[in-house]
Amino acid sequence: MRKSYCVVNQKGGVGKTTTALNLAACAALNGKRVLLVDVDPQGNATSGLGIDRSQLERCIYDLLTDDEWKETVPDPLSEIIVPTSLPNLWLLPATIELAGAELSLAAAIAREMKLRQMLEPARHRYDLILIDTAPSLGLLTINSLAAADAVLIPIQCEYYALEGLSQLMRVVRLVQGQINPRLQIAGVVLTMYDARTNLAREVAEEVVAHFPGRVFETVIPRNVKLAEAPSHGLPVVNYERSSKGARAYQNLYGEVFGNAET
Ligand code: ATP
Ligand code: MG
Repeated sequence: MRKSYCVVNQKGGVGKTTTALNLAACAALNGKRVLLVDVDPQGNATSGLGIDRSQLERCIYDLLTDDEWKETVPDPLSEIIVPTSLPNLWLLPATIELAGAELSLAAAIAREMKLRQMLEPARHRYDLILIDTAPSLGLLTINSLAAADAVLIPIQCEYYALEGLSQLMRVVRLVQGQINPRLQIAGVVLTMYDARTNLAREVAEEVVAHFPGRVFETVIPRNVKLAEAPSHGLPVVNYERSSKGARAYQNLYGEVFGNAET
């Protein structure tokens, strides 16, 4: 059974956080117990849920690196997870401290497996775990791939969309081969699609040709409500439920999880 999904693309600003946040919110609205995991030092998933990062004493960084502290508490994971303003949705937050994790992890034993180990108890506590990653293929993203059952790849319908994807697929295969054989590719999501431009259409066709049978039918349109929602600390499916962006994410949720047992 697929339980944890990570949203990955080392290209910046392609819609990873928006996708992770809104799929998490859709699942929560559907009555699932959901944990959103912020594995990006930018902390956009954290602030996008209206959580003030400056008020957090600890974050995912401590779970990944602070072995001394972890020994002093019975359940380190639940010390870090925070509730959100939305029912059924919990967050494992990131603060800027996470920027130091790549360095701290570099010398650790089984450094690629830290997140997976830390999330192990969460697999029983939640119906769905969604992991938002940074625009990088560094150690934090490798940890995210190691912790996931499936990977979702958002691709922005803009020029250069396919750049870097062969490198991303190589990393996914390496993770599958060496540390996480259960990792599957859930699929590719086309984001920020502007139907008025030929370019968007051409890029979409190119992506479909590059990933035959792997691209979700639901295409996320460019939609101003999606861009506005984070400043209100809400996923768009909660902020403006009838907007085009919200409806697209609801459809995507159905497509990604419709047949899953989560
Ligand atoms: P990063 O690589 O920095 O983590 P990201 O891949 O997580 O970026 P997002 O933060 O989801 O990308 O999106 C980048 C910006 O575009 C954000 O300001 C977001 O609100 C906006 N955005 C995302 N999707 C859409 C969309 N479909 N329509 C309009 N704006 C969008
Ligand atoms: Mg992001």
